[in-house]
Amino acid sequence: MTKIAVIGSGTMGRGIAYVAALSGFSVSLNDIKEESLAQAEQYIRQELAKSAEKGYIDHADVEKSLKNLTFSQDMQECVGDADLVIEAVLEIMDVKIKLFQQVDQLCPPHTIFATNTSTMSPTEMGASTSRPDKFIAMHFFNPVHKMKLIEIVRSLDTSDETMRYVGEIGRKMNKETVEVNEFPGFITSRMNCLIGNEAMNMLMEGVASVEDIDKALKLGLNHPMGPLALADLVGLDTRLRNMEYLHQTLGEKYRPCPLLAKYVKSGRLGVKTGSGFFDYL
Ligand code: NAD
Repeated sequence: MTKIAVIGSGTMGRGIAYVAALSGFSVSLNDIKEESLAQAEQYIRQELAKSAEKGYIDHADVEKSLKNLTFSQDMQECVGDADLVIEAVLEIMDVKIKLFQQVDQLCPPHTIFATNTSTMSPTEMGASTSRPDKFIAMHFFNPVHKMKLIEIVRSLDTSDETMRYVGEIGRKMNKETVEVNEFPGFITSRMNCLIGNEAMNMLMEGVASVEDIDKALKLGLNHPMGPLALADLVGLDTRLRNMEYLHQTLGEKYRPCPLLAKYVKSGRLGVKTGSGFFDYL
């Protein structure tokens, strides 16, 4: 049985662990924070129960998925026998590099490393390990169990074998994939961050209310979700880091809206804190 270690049990890590366990992989979920791991376990149990109630999965799948899952703060235990490590920690290059350097020491030589970064360079992360050919980005979307796509991002050094391997894992998770040659923001984040930032700039300029900006994009442009609600779902802290990276690498067009920075300073991070552009409590 293929073992997948997921590092970081926040918004994305818990979703990736959930889908991987439901797809029949042995999954170990790791976080430095005990509280985050406990919340992740509760989230996965709730989502499995909801899916079974709605008839999307069998009741037997709930038990099977839970048996496939372990939760651990012990990194060695989590990655020591993993075939694939998927990293979903903070969108900060130094944090990701330090983590992969640690994991590189603990994993067997065959282990493939994937980052779930939304924007950053897998080439840079892979170069910090002893296995740049086995390094790739697998960009999942939020919420992972509902979103069909994984962007698979090839770094300068990713081998064809690694591309094939993660493509196969993605298909086993019942996802569609697109292959992208590394460039900041890939396809989706580069596009989506601009739309979201423009919506925030309009809000700051007083062009329209939060509700009307989102309504206009949903009903006028046929977006399934408004850009401000989507930013709240992503997490405004994560979105700000995405914008800062794109601004730094792609230039002025991506300067983060000052209103976004102000919301983050106030601690309004979106759905995960109960308020952002909208209120959730
Ligand atoms: P998050 O803040 O919700 O969760 C991050 C988790 O990582 C936290 O639980 C934190 O305790 C943990 N963590 C931090 N450092 C760690 C370490 N050294 N070892 C183990 N755990 C550690 O973040 P998120 O929104 O899940 O984003 C994670 C990654 O996924 C980012 O790179 C982000 O850009 C990317 N991403 C996010 C979304 C989204 O919609 N939120 C979508 C696609 C990709």
